[in-house]
Amino acid sequence: MGINIKGLTKNYGAQVALNQVSFSIKKGEVVGLLGPNGAGKSTLMKSVTGAILPDDGDVLVDEFSVIKQPIETKKRIGFLLENNPLYYDMYVREYLKFVANIREEKKERIEEVIEKVGLIPESHKKIGQLSKGYKQRVGLAQAILSNPDILILDEPTNGLDPNQILEIREVIREIGKSKTVILSTHIMQEVEALCSRVILLNKGNIVSDSPIEEFKGQYKSLE
Ligand code: ADP
Ligand code: ADP
Repeated sequence: MGINIKGLTKNYGAQVALNQVSFSIKKGEVVGLLGPNGAGKSTLMKSVTGAILPDDGDVLVDEFSVIKQPIETKKRIGFLLENNPLYYDMYVREYLKFVANIREEKKERIEEVIEKVGLIPESHKKIGQLSKGYKQRVGLAQAILSNPDILILDEPTNGLDPNQILEIREVIREIGKSKTVILSTHIMQEVEALCSRVILLNKGNIVSDSPIEEFKGQYKSLE
């Protein structure tokens, strides 16, 4: 399932968030969007999921336009954005059922996704009782509930401790197999650990777009 990002532009008043950003992603690629705070990563990801409308440009998921055919594109995309709502008073399964209900998705996959993200030992608990790492697993579980071909993850290890970071990366590696993945981060090690290709974003512009091995070489020479 390919993604074609075409001339995405978004301004917030005088603030440029994205400036004519274009690139395409092949089916099965795991692409890291790397950039400092304010680079435009979240805005780009929200434009792909359809959470915000760009001022100009479009995103094609296969042949479908996020703007003109949002129902088709949303079916194909699972995402975990930074403000993903978790209801702390709900039990893990109750939350996943609730999510499946509001999205009109099937509930048969709930046990499967609980297993996939390594939630079994904590799955009897309320979300509020879980550690940050396990809360993030719940976030990943909801992202893959509909078995989407595309996974969009915005700063998926932000705020976790070093151990939790390694564990969540392992989960992402596992659930990202055979999916097209876009992952944003401001941490070089994160793209090194997970991505085959890195797009460096700064001030709403693409600075570079390269295979991870090539990027590692360039990055070292910058240090
Ligand atoms: P990050 O840089 O990690 O994406 P931000 O603090 O930029 O986090 O954004 C957090 C949320 O606040 C996002 O939903 C974003 O759209 C929104 N946001 C960011 N900057 C502003 C701003 N200047 N005014 C209003 N909302 C903002
Ligand atoms: P990143 O995710 O790379 O940190 P963002 O996409 O969150 O970057 O933000 C890009 C720029 O747009 C930043 O300057 C941010 O402050 C601004 N911005 C993002 N969302 C909003 C918003 N809702 N209102 C105003 N400014 C915003």
